[in-house]
Amino acid sequence: MKTLGHFINGQHTNGTSDRRHDVFNPTTGETQAQAVLASRSDVEDAIASAQKAFPGWAATNPQRRARVLFKFKELVEKDMENLARLLSAEHGKTIPDSRGDVQRGLDVIEFACGIPHLQKGEYTEGAGPGIDVYSMRQPLGVVAGITPFNFPAMIPMWMFGVAIACGNTFINKPSEKDPSVPLRLAELMMEAGAPEGVLNVVNGDKEAVDTLIEDARVKAISFVGSSDIAQYIYAGGTAHGKRVQAFGGAKNHMIILPDADMDNVVNNLIGSAYGSAGERCMATPVAVPVGEDTAERLIDMLKPRVEGLKIGPSTDEGSDLGPLVTAAHRDRVRQWIGKAVEEGQDLVVDGREFTLQGYENGFFMGGTLLDHAKPGQSSYEEEIFGPVLQVVRARNFEEAVALPSDHQYGNGVAIFTRNGAAAREFAAQVNVGMVGINVPIPVPVSYHTFGGWKRSSFGDTNQHGPEGVRFWTKIKTITQRWPEDVQGSEFVIPTMK
Ligand code: NAD
Repeated sequence: MKTLGHFINGQHTNGTSDRRHDVFNPTTGETQAQAVLASRSDVEDAIASAQKAFPGWAATNPQRRARVLFKFKELVEKDMENLARLLSAEHGKTIPDSRGDVQRGLDVIEFACGIPHLQKGEYTEGAGPGIDVYSMRQPLGVVAGITPFNFPAMIPMWMFGVAIACGNTFINKPSEKDPSVPLRLAELMMEAGAPEGVLNVVNGDKEAVDTLIEDARVKAISFVGSSDIAQYIYAGGTAHGKRVQAFGGAKNHMIILPDADMDNVVNNLIGSAYGSAGERCMATPVAVPVGEDTAERLIDMLKPRVEGLKIGPSTDEGSDLGPLVTAAHRDRVRQWIGKAVEEGQDLVVDGREFTLQGYENGFFMGGTLLDHAKPGQSSYEEEIFGPVLQVVRARNFEEAVALPSDHQYGNGVAIFTRNGAAAREFAAQVNVGMVGINVPIPVPVSYHTFGGWKRSSFGDTNQHGPEGVRFWTKIKTITQRWPEDVQGSEFVIPTMK
């Protein structure tokens, strides 16, 4: 059995722990490897390595740091097919979708290549008599990223790309479900010229995470995963004096106004609800048609499309979606469908019994469509994270805006309409962090910024874009003067009156 260990100080190591976690091939259901679950001392080794590398890396001028990232981008592009295959084999998403996962990460690497410009401070000449004021953005030190299973290339790159560009040294604790891609990315970063210890990967679970939270040498943590764990990490990390941003779960709504082009709506919705088997934090698991006629047209057009979804092995380039990540997760999704039916929702298409011929042990599910979901039902209030679309019928625009606004999660939301004024009002009013107008998955481009609201995000800075640079640096402001004569004593607070 293949063992997936850690990458510490530029070397692969299995560390000292004998605890292991099975890594499956979701298409076949087989266990294909075991991830090592780090002990406290393994994580401390990674922290020590990052600590040793920090002064040299922080002192490397920003253009040279950027050159390492330029080279890294080139190496990842060359390795794209290998990375996409590794990713699909452990996650279950289709190979084209895995390429997208890698590319979305690379977009942030491209952004981070601009670090000489992005990290420049500000300068005011003559802020007072003979006084100049300037600021600098300095790296924090050793920092960590704890990442989820669903984007094992994109999210680590979103974090370490910007953090390392800013001069920090980084420890990634990826998901134990699909650790091969993060390990490969660390190898490529070394090949690109990053010194040993600049990017480390430790595989592990709560023990590894708690070590990162508690160790005073770790100055900041970025987390992406489910909301309860996000809240735990935010509370623990900040209690230990760290800077923390922690992104959580989601339940994104698509509002469909009566004037929307229904072909366009259905084409967009089918991809954003069922792509990657619904295992995306920016998926669209809730559709909100406004008015009974809109709802009837939507259901009539969606039903055959959901029944016709092409579900196949992750290696099949023609599949719409592959299997779910584990059997346990698939079983939880099935249970949520049962719960939705108990709660009174109409099961328009039931994907629970789907099996794929030739892959009977794979973690597959068919697409499921539920109608007449309502606020207050647990299957609507909670994240399901599977190929399940729930329709909540709204009577009017106000009711439609209130649904995502009042939901506990506030990651993304979309509105489909031909009415510019309604869309504009919706964008201004809705209590959600990222909004799409006739765009179903409004993940902002790398030079803007990503982050939800409410229980989708704990902390106050977003990922990537200028916000990312702010998160991974601390600002220092210098006030200087070079007097030629002797200064008098001043007992009154200096002002610029
Ligand atoms: P998860 O919360 O189970 O795991 C995320 C990370 O936390 C992993 O590295 C895992 O090892 C670690 N972890 C798990 N249990 C822990 C514990 N008890 N103590 C400490 N660490 C622990 O999430 P997941 O299943 O890997 O990913 C799916 C979730 O991530 C979904 O809720 C999805 O919405 C969310 N997500 C959110 C965003 C976003 O930007 N808001 C993006 C992607 C995924």
